[in-house]
Amino acid sequence: MIVSEAFARARELGVDRVDATLLLCALLGRERGWLITHDDFALTPEMSGILEAQFARRAAGEPIAYLLGRKEFHGLDLAVTPDTLVPRPDTETLVDWALELLDGPARVVDLGTGSGAIALAIKHRMPAALVEAVDLSTGALAVARANAERLGLDIAFHQGDWFGPLAGRRFELIVSNPPYIAGDDPHLPALRHEPRSALTPEGDGLAALRAIIADAPQHLEPGGWLLLEHGYDQAEPVAALLRARGFGEVTLRRDLGGQPRVSGGRLPPGR
Ligand code: GLN
Repeated sequence: MIVSEAFARARELGVDRVDATLLLCALLGRERGWLITHDDFALTPEMSGILEAQFARRAAGEPIAYLLGRKEFHGLDLAVTPDTLVPRPDTETLVDWALELLDGPARVVDLGTGSGAIALAIKHRMPAALVEAVDLSTGALAVARANAERLGLDIAFHQGDWFGPLAGRRFELIVSNPPYIAGDDPHLPALRHEPRSALTPEGDGLAALRAIIADAPQHLEPGGWLLLEHGYDQAEPVAALLRARGFGEVTLRRDLGGQPRVSGGRLPPGR
C-alpha cells in the first residue's frame, strides 16, 4: 500500500483525513509536509497492517490521543494511555488561574492527577512551586511519573484517595479536575474508551467535588485557594458548597467555549 492508498482506505472506513495524517506521520516518523510530497511512498506490509488496525480503532471511536499515545496540553507533550483521561483544552483554564495565583515556592497539590497534566503544566511554568500530585489509580500514576521524568519536572506523587495520602499536610493551593459527569449522563457512552472512574463518580456527578470541598480547609493554609473543574451546569452547587465550607472570594471562570468550567474559593486569611 502507498500513502495515497492509505488515505483512500481511511476515507472508506470513515476516518477523518486529519487523523489519518497524524497516524501516518507517527508511523513513518515524518512531518506532514513530507507526507504531502510523498503520496507514492510505499508502506511495508507490516506498516500497512498496523495502520489498518489503527484506522479501525479510530473508526470505532477510540480517541486519537490513545492511538498516538500522546496529547499536547498547555504547551507540553504528554504521554497518555487508556489508564488516564485525555487532557482537555478546557482544563487549561484551571492551569492559567493557578499560575495567576502562584508566586515563588508555594506548596501546590493536584488531586486526581491522571496523566499529570495539571501538575506538570504548573511546575513547567512556575518552577519555584513545590508541586505534589495524588491519584488513586496506580496505572495513571505510572503514566504521570513517566511524564514528569521525561519532561524533567520534579513532582512528588502519592497514591491514594483525594486527601488520603496527605494527612496533616497543608498547601497554599489545591487544584483538581475530578470526575464530575453524572452517572446517567447521555454523553458517557461516547467517552467509553476513557476510564469511567476518571469521568464520573456516578450518581449526580457531585460526589468527588463534595468530598474535596469538605476536606480542603484542613489541608489549606489561611488565605489558600481551592480551584475545581466542574460540569457546565455545576457552577451553582459548587459555589454553594464552597461558601458553606467557609470559602470566600468564590469565583467562576469559563472555558474556551464560554461554558462555566472552573470555580474557586479562598480560605479567609489569618484564620
Ligand atoms: N471535561 C470532560 C468531558 O466532559 C470530563 C472531565 C471530568 O469528568 N473530569 O468530557
